[in-house]
Amino acid sequence: MKTQNSPDWEELKAMDEDTFNQYFIDTESCLKFLAERKWENGFICRKCGHTNYCKGKTPYARRCTRCKTEESATAHTMFHRCRIHLPEAFSILKTVCSQPRTSSSKLSEQLEIRLMTCWRFKKKVMECLQGGISFTLINPVQIHTPANKSQKK
Ligand SMILES: [Zn+2]
Repeated sequence: MKTQNSPDWEELKAMDEDTFNQYFIDTESCLKFLAERKWENGFICRKCGHTNYCKGKTPYARRCTRCKTEESATAHTMFHRCRIHLPEAFSILKTVCSQPRTSSSKLSEQLEIRLMTCWRFKKKVMECLQGGISFTLINPVQIHTPANKSQKK
């Protein structure tokens, strides 16, 4: 495995469970992964398109130096407003990827998370996966440039 950088999506899917659990052991490592993947091509402010940032208030968040809008590592990912502790949410993601038939009740039992919470998050993961995974973890940044507009009908 590559050193230093977080694994990319394909690596994450291919990881065996032990490696995976070791990697996403705490909230911090999950946030780090999300931030690295989300901004792998650099930071772009969703509000004003500026590319310079400074650290935000929460770990791995980034704040635009021009308009001061802050974006957390989980914003625009399937983990946004996720009620599940991140390492557990990652574990659900991993399970859904490798064994899509795992039921919500089994996940709920394994992780000791409320069934409804598991069901909701699993549904979200499934939707993201069905949307074509390369990085549907994340809504791509859409900056409205004239070029983009002219391509639309
Ligand atoms: Zn901005």
